[in-house]
Amino acid sequence: MAAAGIVLAGGKGTRMQSEIPKQYMLLAGKPLLYYSLRAFEESKVESVVLVTAEGEEDYCRTELVERYGFTKVTAVTAGGAERYESVFHGLQAAGTPEYVLIHDGARPLVTAELINRLLGQTESYGACVAGMPVKDTIQMTDENGVITLTPKRESLWIAQTPQAFEFSLVYHAYERLMEEPEIDVTDDAMVVGLYGDTPVQMVRGSYTNLKVTTPEDMAFAEALLKKRQSREPEKGK
Ligand code: C5P
Repeated sequence: MAAAGIVLAGGKGTRMQSEIPKQYMLLAGKPLLYYSLRAFEESKVESVVLVTAEGEEDYCRTELVERYGFTKVTAVTAGGAERYESVFHGLQAAGTPEYVLIHDGARPLVTAELINRLLGQTESYGACVAGMPVKDTIQMTDENGVITLTPKRESLWIAQTPQAFEFSLVYHAYERLMEEPEIDVTDDAMVVGLYGDTPVQMVRGSYTNLKVTTPEDMAFAEALLKKRQSREPEKGK
């Protein structure tokens, strides 16, 4: 059961309105990206590909991988202009594991427990996505903001990462996508849904597994990390 992780940190994070790219901003004293890499390091995953923005590979090697001793990181590679391109670069650098988990480095609250649980489910289903049921009512509107549809809440989930797949399934789906790159994809489940032949199973993630996108998310993430560190003092160092 050889599994690889791909941690994505190739985005510009423009919604953070910060001089420093968000993946390097300090959260409870460590770079935001550190937390995802640590969760993978502590998981059953055997190797990790870190995908950075172009030109940031050396910085990441020195300031994250070597500095914190992440021994599972076997490759640091540059991403592309869009998330799906970064994923494809990551898949190309991952070797040929049996399973791969793709994770947004912007989700620092991921845990080794969630990674291992997803991996276990992927051995049964072939394709799994972490997610949580929505708590709010979701409305669809037209271009004037007028509500056109209220989908049934029971069937709505927030998709998170990691998203885990049999490697060959997701690799071939991405190969097909790269031939038609005009398609607007936002996550890996969508790519496998479009080009794969395996249904994607939703697996309960956690409401705390939030994506840090805007400045207020930093405060939430920091509060949650500090709470976690106070329960696990040895890991908070
Ligand atoms: O922009 P978005 O919120 O969808 O980004 C999700 C994740 O994908 C982030 O961790 C970001 O660093 C990564 N990403 C990437 N390459 C891009 C765009 C986003 O690795 N070109």
